[in-house]
Amino acid sequence: MPPEVLDFIRKRVVADVEEGKLADGIVTRFPPEPNGFLHIGHAKSIALNFGVAEEYGGKTFLRFDDTNPLAESEEFVQAIQRDVRWLGYDWEDRLTFASDYFHELYYFAEKLIEGGHAFVCDLSSDEIRSTRGTLTTPGTSSPYRNRTEEENLNLFREMRAGKFQEGTKVLRAKIDMSSPNINLRDPVIYRILFAEHHRTGTEWCIYPMYDFTHCICDALEKISHSLCTLEFEDHRPLYDWVIEHIGVNHHPPQIEFSRLGLEYNVMSKRIYTSLIEQGFLSGWDDPRVPTISGLRRRGVPPASIREFTRRIGVTKQDNLVETELLDFCIRREFEESAPRSMAVLDPLKVVVTNYEGQDERLEAPWHPKHDELGEKTLTFGREIYIERTDFSEDPPRKYRRLTINGMVRLRYAFIIRCDEVIKDIEGKITELHVTYFPESRSGQDTSGLKPKGVIHFVSGNNAVPAEFRLFDKLFTTRIPDTNNIDEQINRESLVVKQGYIEGAMHKADFSQIQFERAGYFVEDQESTSESPVYNRTVTLSDGYKVPVSVN
Ligand code: ATP
Ligand code: MG
Repeated sequence: MPPEVLDFIRKRVVADVEEGKLADGIVTRFPPEPNGFLHIGHAKSIALNFGVAEEYGGKTFLRFDDTNPLAESEEFVQAIQRDVRWLGYDWEDRLTFASDYFHELYYFAEKLIEGGHAFVCDLSSDEIRSTRGTLTTPGTSSPYRNRTEEENLNLFREMRAGKFQEGTKVLRAKIDMSSPNINLRDPVIYRILFAEHHRTGTEWCIYPMYDFTHCICDALEKISHSLCTLEFEDHRPLYDWVIEHIGVNHHPPQIEFSRLGLEYNVMSKRIYTSLIEQGFLSGWDDPRVPTISGLRRRGVPPASIREFTRRIGVTKQDNLVETELLDFCIRREFEESAPRSMAVLDPLKVVVTNYEGQDERLEAPWHPKHDELGEKTLTFGREIYIERTDFSEDPPRKYRRLTINGMVRLRYAFIIRCDEVIKDIEGKITELHVTYFPESRSGQDTSGLKPKGVIHFVSGNNAVPAEFRLFDKLFTTRIPDTNNIDEQINRESLVVKQGYIEGAMHKADFSQIQFERAGYFVEDQESTSESPVYNRTVTLSDGYKVPVSVN
C-alpha cells in the first residue's frame, strides 16, 4: 500500500505510469558498495527502492557496486544481504553485481573510444587533479587528448592486458574541459589496478569508475527510476552523457533525494571503519552505532526501523533527524508486547529486620494489560535488593522513594520503613535496615499506611546476577565534525552495570523485556545462562512529542 500522502518520487512514479512511459514496468535497485555494513541511512534508501516497487507492482534489484577491489569484500556482501533481508525486503532472483557487467562495461568503453568520446591519458592523478580547474576557472586539456582512435584503442587494450604500471595511464571520457560542471571535465572512467577482486579474481587489472559503471548497470537492468542521494545531483549530467554516448535504448532517469542524518551520529562507513580499527567500537555490530547490525544487536525490531523510515518520508530537504524519533518508533513496538519484570541494575542490599523464616511467594502478572502472557512467582524475604538511586539520605523536594524513617511500597509486595543506614569506613552506604508491615501485602492491604512511592526490588533468594549494558549517544556534538571525530566521542556512551534479575525471568525465554522503570531490554548475543547479559534497547518514555510533520 502506498503511503497516504505521496512523496515527490512516488508522485513521479504514478505520473510515469499514467503517461504510459514505463514499457518495462517499475524497476528500482538498491546499489550498496560492499565496503562496510549498512547503516540506518541505507535503510531509508532500501525502504524507498523496495517500497516503491512493492507498492506499484514493480521489482527491485539488489546490486552490489563492486568496482573498487581494494575496499570491498565477500564478508560485506554477506552482511549486507543479511541486513536487507532482516529489514523485511526481498530481491528474489535479482541479486547482481557491477562486476557481472565488467565485459559489457569494457565493450562500451571501447565503443566510446571508437566514437571519439574517450582517450587514454598518461597524466598522473595529481596532474589530472591540478589541471581540472576550479568552480570559477576552466580546466586545461590533457596533452594526450588528441590521440587517434586507433592509438587509444591499442593503448586501452594494452592497459587491459597488463602492459602498464598502476597510475601510469587512465581512460578518460572526452567531454568538455571548460564545462561549469567539474564532473564533465574529461572524467576518468577506467584505471589500472593490480588487485584481486572478490568475485572476478585476477581476471581484470583495469577497473571502471563509479560514474561510468552505475548508469550502464542501470540501463542494462532497465531501471525505471534510479533513485540516489543528493550528492549525486552534479553527477547527473555525466550519467546522462554516458548513456547518450554508448548507444543503448534504455535511459533511466536519475532522481535525487536527501540523505538521512541522525543527530549525535555520523552516517559513514569510512568513519565506522576507523572507529572500529581504533577500538572505540567493538565491531560493526556495536549497539551504539546505527548500523543495521548494531541496531539489531541493541534489540531494535525491524518493524521500528521501517516505521521510522515511513515517518521521516522522502524529500529533497535537509534530513537531520532526532534520535528520539527512532526511540519513539522502538517503544511503539515494545509497549504492547514486551513482558515486564523487575531487575535491579545498581543494587543496594536491604535487610528486613523483622522478617524471619522462608521467603514468601507472591504472584504477579507478566504484563498488567495482557493476561494471556500469564503470571510469574516472585518472592519476598529477609534480604532484598533495591536500586541505589531509590534511596536518599538527603532527598530533594517531592522525592517519592525511600528515605531515613520514610516508607515506600515494594511493587507486588509489602510496605517497608527504613530504620538504619549502614556505611563502610569511606562513608559509602552498604546496606539498609528496614521494617516491613506484614498486613500491607499488595492486593490485601489492611495496614492503613499510605506511602507516596512505589519502588521495585528483587529478593536475595530469588535474584540471579546479570550484566546490564546501557547505551547513550555515541558523540557529544549534535552534528559531529568529521575532521576531529575522536574528540567528540562520548566516553560514557557505554555504561556496564552488574545487578540482578528475577529468578522467573531467568527461566523464561523472552526475546524482549521491559525491566520496570529501567527500560526495554534484550539479551545480548554474549549472554549465557550462567552469566546473562542484557542490552538496553531504549529507556521508557522520555516525554518526546512526535513532530506533526512526521506523524
Ligand atoms: P557511506 O558514506 O556511509 O559509506 P555510501 O553512500 O558510500 O555511504 P553506498 O553503499 O554507496 O554507501 O550507498 C548505497 C545507497 O544508499 C546509495 O544509493 C546511497 O545514495 C544510499 N545512501 C547512503 N547513505 C545514505 C543516507 N544517509 N541516507 C539515504 N540514503 C543513503
Ligand atoms: Mg558510496
